[in-house]
Amino acid sequence: MLKLANKVALVTGGSRGIGAAIAKRLATDGASVAITYAKDANAASAVVKAIEGSGGKALAIQADAADPKAINAAIEKTVATLGRLDVLVNNAGTAIPKPFEQTTLEEMDQMINLNFRGLMVATQAALKHMNDNGRLIMIGSCVGERMMTPGLVAYAATKGAVKMFTQGLAREVGSRGITVNNVQPGPIDTDLNPAAGDWAAPQKANTALNRFGTVDEVAALVSFVAGPESSYITGANLTVDGGTNA
Ligand code: NDP
Repeated sequence: MLKLANKVALVTGGSRGIGAAIAKRLATDGASVAITYAKDANAASAVVKAIEGSGGKALAIQADAADPKAINAAIEKTVATLGRLDVLVNNAGTAIPKPFEQTTLEEMDQMINLNFRGLMVATQAALKHMNDNGRLIMIGSCVGERMMTPGLVAYAATKGAVKMFTQGLAREVGSRGITVNNVQPGPIDTDLNPAAGDWAAPQKANTALNRFGTVDEVAALVSFVAGPESSYITGANLTVDGGTNA
């Protein structure tokens, strides 16, 4: 039997990049998967079709992960359509690379509301429905723990907040067997952080493996944390960063 058979997962920002790879991987592991997206309905429906094409069950929901009303509605729709909720992956997030002194108030709000406030709102809404032994998984960042390059000050601060949120919440939900973990990618080749982009060279140089990672390498760790074999791991910050933070 597949390790996530009969489980339901919701992945925020699951239409492209790391989130799409996580959604497909959890479906391969046997879960029914809901994904949210903000803008690109075609990309979201391609992920759903890919999962269905492999015999899985999937659902795409348009929901801005920075909007509490939309997040709550997405969780309710997931439970109403797929019947339950066992795994939440808070993946939606963004970076606006620039020197801190040039970062506008609007840009700060955008990163705080999507990367951190929305993640808290989604987690709270999910906990109302989450079954015992559920899995709350945050996608933080290696820069939430250590900082090697300029240009990511506000972003790193939101990811540092995600780290402490994870550790704090693990203490409150452990009695239900629910684990809370923070998967912290390093440089991963996506639209947000292309391996050939302007900011890529120093990120690559900071890894021990001298390369960007792939979305599937992050999805593999999420799959482990979502599964039954990770049952004694909680409140942990797990980096998948090619050795950036080593
Ligand atoms: P991408 O920008 O490549 O993909 C983002 C995904 O999130 C898309 O599916 C997008 O859908 C969706 N999304 C964006 N904004 C919203 C929103 N407001 N509400 C709902 N969905 C939204 O990002 P990555 O895959 O690179 O990053 C995913 C996560 O991983 C983020 O939290 C990021 O901080 C983290 N991370 C990434 C690293 C990297 O090097 N790539 C490194 C460390 C952490 P749509 O097209 O519809 O907007």
